[in-house]
Amino acid sequence: MMQIACIGGGVAALYFAIAMQRRQPAAAIDIFERDSAERNSGWGIILREPMLAAMQRMDEASHAAILARAVSWDQIEIRHKGGIKLLSNQFGRSTGRHALVEVLRARAVELGCRIHYASPASATDLAGSYQLLVGSDGIKSGCREQIGADAPIARVQSANRFIWLGCGKAFDRMVFDFQQTTHGPVWVHAYPFSAGQSTFVVECTQQTFDGFGFGRRALSSDLARLEEIFANLLGEAKLASLSDAPHEWRQFEQIRCDSLHREQMVLIGDAAHTAHFSIGSGTRLAVEDAIALADSLHQGGALPEALARYQRQRSEAVGSIQQQALHSMQWFDRIVEHYSLPLAAFSRAFLFRSLGQAA
Ligand SMILES: Cc1cc2nc3c(=O)[nH]c(=O)nc-3n(C[C@H](O)[C@H](O)[C@H](O)COP(=O)(O)OP(=O)(O)OC[C@H]3O[C@@H](n4cnc5c(N)ncnc54)[C@H](O)[C@@H]3O)c2cc1C
Repeated sequence: MMQIACIGGGVAALYFAIAMQRRQPAAAIDIFERDSAERNSGWGIILREPMLAAMQRMDEASHAAILARAVSWDQIEIRHKGGIKLLSNQFGRSTGRHALVEVLRARAVELGCRIHYASPASATDLAGSYQLLVGSDGIKSGCREQIGADAPIARVQSANRFIWLGCGKAFDRMVFDFQQTTHGPVWVHAYPFSAGQSTFVVECTQQTFDGFGFGRRALSSDLARLEEIFANLLGEAKLASLSDAPHEWRQFEQIRCDSLHREQMVLIGDAAHTAHFSIGSGTRLAVEDAIALADSLHQGGALPEALARYQRQRSEAVGSIQQQALHSMQWFDRIVEHYSLPLAAFSRAFLFRSLGQAA
């Protein structure tokens, strides 16, 4: 019976536990999560269809529970230069991160996994007690740094600033609203994730960020300013942040590790690789990593062989998604070049941004 510890209890670890317990019911899995069980916060995330299909094949029960909490849309609206472009047949689905994690926690425990909350963990402390350590500690992963001691980690940081907000209004479609202000461009990626709420990711250039003095005061004053900028879209709805700390404003970093394993440790999810939020695929990568790792361990052989097989399998699949994400991130980084385009040309450039085509 394999003894496994996961460092970090987000979607990657929870889905790995589900997949592994399905493949090997006798496996003993402990998940160590730094935060308390109650601190399961977050706004909505897009659920990509390939991820949902893989989840359905792996575990019907959690797949059905996730779909029961999801909302969908079939149009994308692009607002630019005072005009609106509506694109039909653009099916998308999302759910609250909170709802997703709740479903996965319940299912992982039902299948036999143990979750330890308020339990920050380190590979050094756990190495002696487990055969396999799964580094699932997210974008600021400490496990990655340990593996990266021998292998390069590639990082590309976006020039823009973003903040992940929620709003108390459920849009009936996905909306991208590009505003021009006296300090420069600021835009939002918004979509519904429950009956009364939407995700509202605001992004702006560094110049706009500095011009408004964002990130320098209590966040409530930044939110009030954003509510003014997006008043046409929001109506009476208010914006909400995950905390009141100015550091909620971030610069996205796309990360790729040359090596995903070392000795008894392996990386999955954001600890292993990130993908810019504008293509909504980070959770998909996390779930697909989790399934690939469980499958590779289940195939058997010595642990180093299984981990090497997992790495080979994921490198190619992740590479193409990260390439699209990078193109998309860089399109937004060069937004000033696109802003002068009329609505139709701007919308076309926007839609094809992840292919890396020029505007
Ligand atoms: C603005 C934004 C929008 C996004 N939208 C989407 C979307 O629409 N669709 C999509 O697919 N993805 C989206 N993503 C990406 C998605 O949120 C991540 O890819 C996904 O959460 C990765 O899951 P994870 O389990 O690897 O990491 P996380 O969800 O970050 O979980 C890591 C966990 O590890 C814990 N932890 C950290 N260190 C320790 C430690 N030492 N000990 C114990 N616990 C620890 C943390 O508390 C955390 O719970 C978005 C990301 C951002 C920033």
